[in-house]
Amino acid sequence: MARESCLVCQIVEGRVPSAKVYEDESVLAVLDVNGANPGHCFVMPKEHYPIIEQVPDKEIGKIFNVANKISTAVFESLQAQGTSIFVANGIPAGQTVAHFLVNVIPRFENDGINLLWKPKQLNEEEISTIELKLKEQAKNIGGFEKEEKKEKLHHEPIAKMPAADEDEEEDYFSRQMRRIP
Ligand SMILES: [Zn+2]
Repeated sequence: MARESCLVCQIVEGRVPSAKVYEDESVLAVLDVNGANPGHCFVMPKEHYPIIEQVPDKEIGKIFNVANKISTAVFESLQAQGTSIFVANGIPAGQTVAHFLVNVIPRFENDGINLLWKPKQLNEEEISTIELKLKEQAKNIGGFEKEEKKEKLHHEPIAKMPAADEDEEEDYFSRQMRRIP
């Protein structure tokens, strides 16, 4: 999905109006006016990265730092009792727009938002197999990217992500973002 047709990029560039709650040279936070709870915010890099794996280490740190501060702002200004901070990464995870973003949702007791799941108990064999597989891959963690190095990753979900211009039926994200005054 090209950045020209990306709704989030259009918001970043001001071509689509939004309620901006925080902005600096690389990160933007906007209010979702049709969110899970009043005060639901999106924290996004200004650069177009469809999925989290494409975001350079330095930027991901900055984005989550801002998300943390927005969470604090939500606590302080809206008297939230908790926050849910999460990323829908890829279509099966519920990602609906091909631009990585972090959700910050103010939470209140009995607010009816259901982010819970039914636990799936692993058997002994599954535990050892999965642990081994993950450990093997996780060996590569640690050598974080240098600032200037921008790796181009090719990841399945990008190609499958619906582009706004070829998608007749607007996804919920497009619809709710349009409603931002
Ligand atoms: Zn974008």
